[in-house]
Amino acid sequence: MAASVGAAFGWGTPHTEITRFGLRFVDGADWLSNRIGGLRPMEDLAWGADYRGDLNPGWYVDDYLLMPGVPDHLSHLMPEVRRTWVPYFRRTVQALREESPANAARWLGSFLHFVEDSGSPPHAFPTGGLAHTRMENYVLSLDIRLPAYRPEPRSGDSATDPESLERSVVERLNRLVEYSAERGRRLKPLAERDDRAACEPLVLESCKETIRAVADVTSAAVDLARQPAPPESGGWIGEVEAPPHPELGDAPVRVVLNGGPHSTIAEPLSRGDFGSASRYRFVFRGLPRGDYRGWVERPGCASASVSVAVRPSRIAQTRTRLLVDGSGGNLIRNPSGILKWIDPSRPDHWRRVGGEWRTDPIPLRRQTAYRVGSLTAAGESPVRLRFAADPAGTDAGSPRYFTSGSVLTAPEQWVSLGVPGERPPLRAWLEPVTPPPLER
Ligand SMILES: [Zn+2]
Repeated sequence: MAASVGAAFGWGTPHTEITRFGLRFVDGADWLSNRIGGLRPMEDLAWGADYRGDLNPGWYVDDYLLMPGVPDHLSHLMPEVRRTWVPYFRRTVQALREESPANAARWLGSFLHFVEDSGSPPHAFPTGGLAHTRMENYVLSLDIRLPAYRPEPRSGDSATDPESLERSVVERLNRLVEYSAERGRRLKPLAERDDRAACEPLVLESCKETIRAVADVTSAAVDLARQPAPPESGGWIGEVEAPPHPELGDAPVRVVLNGGPHSTIAEPLSRGDFGSASRYRFVFRGLPRGDYRGWVERPGCASASVSVAVRPSRIAQTRTRLLVDGSGGNLIRNPSGILKWIDPSRPDHWRRVGGEWRTDPIPLRRQTAYRVGSLTAAGESPVRLRFAADPAGTDAGSPRYFTSGSVLTAPEQWVSLGVPGERPPLRAWLEPVTPPPLER
């Protein structure tokens, strides 16, 4: 998984074991396994949400955390973690129905992370500091197992009705929180005096109850996702070509459809080199009939609009060629702010913080030269950079100022770029200063 540790505390080791055992008991585990390309990768993907802002080979973690309705990261502790349940459950069902196995697995990973955090005693009974860490790490991972479990029946007579299944998920997770909050309340004083022997059985009980909850709520997701696609729906396969990014290679290509919840990340088919393009493919199936318009974006390229007519029982095909933007090395996503899909009031991958517009964390190569700058309605504008060793650090600390057009040497592997002002910049750039390719 990702190389750096995010700011949010999660279970110490247990995400791995809770996921392993929980998914084993899901009703329809075989269907799920086939649908997402195997259950084993879920043990890693269930950690994803603790790596906000990070970039894995092939995907930005935040592309599986932020979406319409959840424009900002939510706390993994009660009471706020409760706000994750329904949106990530819905999004997982959507991905299981509509998207590639890789996309479905990553969304399920985000959902499971929040479910599992909800069952962690210091999350359910919010506790910080050393006691939090102890409460999660007293139990050895080899002790976390559940030999058998049958998921609870879901919502009686209407097991296929989305609203009643969602209600059953919320009700199940409320019970999980209650169970673990009760243990958290008892654990806290014990953890404060480091009484591991007294803590261990309580933590283990919560681990096992979380395994049961994972099996229950994932079974509900499978119930919904397995239902046949609506009759008036069709599919769409899109191919995308883009020149390779000088630093990110076949950087992730993201596709979003206007005015709805549909989005996906394309998968690379072949990686380009000098003179040839990287090729990607994305897929939607079970999309409601209609004429869709949307955007295809990738760092280093200008976002391209895309449109498609989805017709019942047909697979539409499109081909999109992304054109180089600027030098082709811009690491800022959505650098001109054209894409406003997650939240119509602001550009995707940008946030308003303390009088400036700030980008998501951006990965750099240390000791490499970059050119930075921004253009606002008032002309070229200085930028504020916050360097850090990991993505979470790029929101902290005092910024360094650079005039537009400056060349700098990256002291760290991560940075955020801020542009002061009321309105988002017209354009911003942070691109490697690479020597021009040799004449051949
Ligand atoms: Zn967490």
